[in-house]
Amino acid sequence: MFKNMYFKRLVLSCAAVIFFLLTIFYKYVLVQQEIKENKLQVVCTTNIIADAIKNIAGDYIHLDMLMGPGVDPHLYKPIEQDVTKIAQADVIFYNGLHLEARMSDLFKNMQTIKTTVAVTQDIPVAKLIRSQEHEEYFDPHVWFDPKLWAYAVTTISQILQKHDPKHKNTYQKNSSIYLEKIANMYQVTRKKIATIPKHKRVLISAHDAFEYFARAYNCQVMSLQGISTASEAGTKDIQKLANFIISHKIPAIFLETSIPPRNIQAVQQNVASHGLTLKIGNELYSDALGTYGTKQGTYIGMLTYNVATIVQELR
Ligand SMILES: [Zn+2]
Repeated sequence: MFKNMYFKRLVLSCAAVIFFLLTIFYKYVLVQQEIKENKLQVVCTTNIIADAIKNIAGDYIHLDMLMGPGVDPHLYKPIEQDVTKIAQADVIFYNGLHLEARMSDLFKNMQTIKTTVAVTQDIPVAKLIRSQEHEEYFDPHVWFDPKLWAYAVTTISQILQKHDPKHKNTYQKNSSIYLEKIANMYQVTRKKIATIPKHKRVLISAHDAFEYFARAYNCQVMSLQGISTASEAGTKDIQKLANFIISHKIPAIFLETSIPPRNIQAVQQNVASHGLTLKIGNELYSDALGTYGTKQGTYIGMLTYNVATIVQELR
């Protein structure tokens, strides 16, 4: 009996190991097959860019994304596997405008040997917002203005058409459909935000990711940190923000999925020390989409979710 159980366990563990090895082998074979099929090898940084690429090119290309859900691109450092992926890539898409602070120089320097494309490169400078903290930089969070993100989608589409001319017509058609979906989403979400009374339309969060959102959706925005999450909010900033919240009777502030919550919690405690209650609303997506396969794992789903959350807490 005992021996029988031991044997069963042994068979089950062997089966698990074989299954694991087969999965790895299958993945390896798939990648090799894609290289053989001459699929364009594309690498991108954020999952926001990845979503645009998938909508345009689907399975016609092989896509590797460096930063997944919950990853803060301002602080991201490339790991060993990233270097291999970058070396094998035909085309590399990154946000630019210094979003990927620690990788921007790498991509710029690689321009002579690889096609590296900042997806924000064709946005007219006049439409960009200057960083409040660093005058020499522009705010990189352009995806929060759907009209500006449309420029990025068009840039991605044009580059893919150029490097994979076999599928040019499909990419053209797909990007038109995707741009139309983005425009529809913008119209719907704008109407939703407009249902919040103007004086309550103040969005307060952990870092300055929502300046473009505020402009596109006619809101006021305040945050604790500057544009990059690399700088820490000081006690003075926390006090200043708490005073603003108290005097303007703001009901809720928001956390972000890619930023630690400690600073926002400090503001809540400060407001509470004045005998008032401040709600911390659900997390907003800022610099990364949600998990792949969920609604928030797409650009359109993420903005729709953020808007629904903001409306629910502030109206
Ligand atoms: Zn950011």
